[in-house]
Amino acid sequence: MAKYHLRLAHFYGDLMNTYGDIGNIIALRYYAKMMDADIAVDVISIDDQFNPDDYDLALFGGGQDYEQMVVSKDLPSKKAGIEKFINDGKPFLAVCGGYQLLGKYYVGADGEKIPGIGVLDHYTTTQSSHRSAMENQSRFIGNVLIKDPRTGEEYHGFENHNGRTFLGKDEQPLGIVEQGHGNNGEDKTEGAVYKNTYCTYFHGPILTRNGEIAKKMLLAALKNRYPDADLSQAEALQIAPTF
Ligand code: GLN
Repeated sequence: MAKYHLRLAHFYGDLMNTYGDIGNIIALRYYAKMMDADIAVDVISIDDQFNPDDYDLALFGGGQDYEQMVVSKDLPSKKAGIEKFINDGKPFLAVCGGYQLLGKYYVGADGEKIPGIGVLDHYTTTQSSHRSAMENQSRFIGNVLIKDPRTGEEYHGFENHNGRTFLGKDEQPLGIVEQGHGNNGEDKTEGAVYKNTYCTYFHGPILTRNGEIAKKMLLAALKNRYPDADLSQAEALQIAPTF
C-alpha cells in the first residue's frame, strides 16, 4: 500500500489518444511508485462532470480533427473547472490535439475552425495555406529534439500534426527546437508551459521518454495534496535516461 494517493483526470481518454498518449499515465504511475505514491484514474468524457478539487493531475491527449470537433462541443461545460485546476497550479499535460483545444482555436486540415476553450492564450492555424504545394506535404512529421533554455534539459519526441501553434501572453515554450518543426516550423518554439501545465506536440509518449517532466508533475501534485509531507526522497529521485 502506497503512502500517498493521487487522482488523475484523463480528459476524453476514449476519444483523444493518438500514438498511445495513455502511455503517459503508465509513466506517471511508474515514477509515482518510486515516490511511494499511487494514482487512481478517471476518464472524464462527453457529458461527464469535472470537479477540479477531486483531482491532482490531468492528461488531455492528441486526436484527429474529427474527434477534436466532437470534443470541442462538450469542452465548454468543463471550462470553469479546467481553468480553476490550471490556475491552482495543478499539473496538467496536454498533447497535440489536447494542447490545441486548451487554446483559443484550431483551424483543421479542411479549413474548419474548431473552437478551443481559451484557458491558455495560444491559437493554432492550419498548414494548408503555409506549406508550398511543391513540398507535397501538409503535416509536420518526424523526430523532434528540443532544449529547455532554463534548465538545459533536452527532451526527445515524435511529432505528427497539421496545426501551427503560436504562443500567447504568459506562456513560455517547453523548449527551443534543435531538430524537427515544433509549434509552427517558424519561431523555433515547441510546446508551452504555464504554471504547472505542460503542453506539447510530442508523442512518444512524452513522459516515457522524458521522465524529468513526469518527476516535475508528480512533485507538484504531491506538494499540492500533501503540503506538510517531507518529500525529500521523492525530490532526490534520479531519472535514468530512457533512450
Ligand atoms: N489533429 C491535429 C493536427 O493534425 C492534432 C494531431 C494530433 O493530436 N496528433 O494538428
